[in-house]
Amino acid sequence: MNIREAHEKFATDEQCLQYIQQMRWPDGVVRCPARGEKDIKRVERKAASKNRRAWFYLCLEKTCHNQFTPTSGTIFHDTHLPLIVWFQAITLMLNAKKGISAKQLQRDLGIGGYKTAWYLNHRIREVMQEGSIRKLGGIVEIDETYVGGKQRGKGVKYAIDSKDVVIGLRQRGGPLRFVQAKDAKADTVYQIIAENVDKDVDAIMTDESPIYNFKLTQYHKARHDRIKHKDRVYVRGDVHTNTIESAFSLFKRGIVGSFHKVSIKHLQRYLDEFSYRFNRRADDSAFMETVCRLAGFAPLSFGKLTSEKV
Ligand SMILES: [Zn+2]
Repeated sequence: MNIREAHEKFATDEQCLQYIQQMRWPDGVVRCPARGEKDIKRVERKAASKNRRAWFYLCLEKTCHNQFTPTSGTIFHDTHLPLIVWFQAITLMLNAKKGISAKQLQRDLGIGGYKTAWYLNHRIREVMQEGSIRKLGGIVEIDETYVGGKQRGKGVKYAIDSKDVVIGLRQRGGPLRFVQAKDAKADTVYQIIAENVDKDVDAIMTDESPIYNFKLTQYHKARHDRIKHKDRVYVRGDVHTNTIESAFSLFKRGIVGSFHKVSIKHLQRYLDEFSYRFNRRADDSAFMETVCRLAGFAPLSFGKLTSEKV
């Protein structure tokens, strides 16, 4: 959904509220949040104001008489920010390929307070996390990069003590992961690979760095091809790390362009936000999933489809 579509689909508070109602009770049966009673009625209210909706649900259970709306007990109710603003902020963040700063969000939403924009930016980013998902398989490209001071090409030794190492892993034609690493030592990198790549992976593509060596690991049966960037060779048949490198470059343009400086403490959050969006770029249900995550409704779509069966 692009920004224009969001404006059309969610032009009024009531339209947003109806959407949340559908997400909360997908079977169409509205239930009281107290104990799930189905015996409820809709009550119209005359004195509607900015902070009071024109209607609410009343639980008819004698001992309950709870009054509620589809947003009751969710972040959307607690913050008292207009639902339209929430929905536009979510759309903007999902559509900003390189990420969006609170400052830019403030301008795009046309809202007065920076604090409000910062809050929205922060809370939405908080739910744009993958959680535990299936390990990568097929052909997996792995590469490392350095966010901040240390640059690529200065060698592994140079960055060995730096704290801004990012390991990128991407299944060709599949998901992307970015993981912040405490250093670029072989053991650290291997640990990250083991957590994210299936042992039955078909092939692993890396550069010539000695940190990638799978001979004595669970991946010893997998094909491992290296591309020799030092010799200015970037593609050899199907051997390349171009898809992970293009994801890195998009991320870096975002970091430099939108955020200027991301503190190491928050780096993993930005990495997660980036891959969350990247992995859903062709997924129409990304908006729905993000709304549900914010509201605390049962997670839907991508997260559920790709999560490991327990
Ligand atoms: Zn009730």
